[in-house]
Amino acid sequence: MESMIELVPVFKEKIWGGRKLETEFGYKIPAGPVGECWAISAHPAGDDQIASGEYAGQTLSWLWDNHRELFGNVEGDRFPLLIKIIDAKDDLSIQVHPDNAYAAEHENGSLGKKECWYVLSAEPGQTIVVGQRAHSREEFAQMVEEGRWSELLNEIPIKAGDFFQIDPGTVHAIKGGTVILESQQSSDVTYRVYDYDRKQDDGTLRPLHLQQALDVIDFDQVPLASGEVELTGAVTTLEHNECYTVDLARVGVDGCPDTLTVATPHPFTCVSVVEGAGTLNGRAVKKGTHLLALASCDELQLSGAMQVVLSYL
Ligand code: ZN
Repeated sequence: MESMIELVPVFKEKIWGGRKLETEFGYKIPAGPVGECWAISAHPAGDDQIASGEYAGQTLSWLWDNHRELFGNVEGDRFPLLIKIIDAKDDLSIQVHPDNAYAAEHENGSLGKKECWYVLSAEPGQTIVVGQRAHSREEFAQMVEEGRWSELLNEIPIKAGDFFQIDPGTVHAIKGGTVILESQQSSDVTYRVYDYDRKQDDGTLRPLHLQQALDVIDFDQVPLASGEVELTGAVTTLEHNECYTVDLARVGVDGCPDTLTVATPHPFTCVSVVEGAGTLNGRAVKKGTHLLALASCDELQLSGAMQVVLSYL
């Protein structure tokens, strides 16, 4: 039985997208501005097919529904995570996501969206928006009305290797010039606060959702100053919460040994090679390879010179 499966990513054309998913990651992508690679996804808006092996051609949601034993019989009505690479050539909208309770009630039973970002590349002087400075719904609405964006939004410098956990209720925007790996709950619910009055090809504006945004924004949150990560050897836990854990594993870079074994006692582990190349349990992998290690996979043997992000429950 296979213990790791490879998926066929789904690509999303976005008004703010670029071409780096082709030029820097080697994916075969559609023409036009492509913003997102849904690398490990069973979401109905982009349900990845299994690339090879016994289940080739089936979707990840089908595998989850019909072969839960491959995921250690973990409970859950849908595959809970979604792993993306985002290529922001232009700024993403100023947005916020709901939590599970709000999404279940207002978005047809959808999950809420906790997401987190590992910054893969950023242009010099690059910034990101994480958090905001209004203390109440009224104050926020007024600052939006008056277009006081620079006062309202917490915009901070970033560089490759930074990491941000974005809880539901956190106003945020990835800015043009940034490439990130995103691990998130399997949800596609976004409330746009501001889209820079940008027109789509057909001349229309993308919809805004200010009322829903005001419902879900966390006005008590203290804005962050930095996304700097303190690395702790070959494996660094970037985030651990009730929805997911995200680790960064490094081999053969920054003084880390060029082989590493990581135990994976999880129902499944999403494995994303984000830099360099090497082998993973004997299989050749490189930047842009994503694999889903199933419950029967007890450990990952990494060798080479690479950075790998592991996301699991
Ligand atoms: Zn978001």
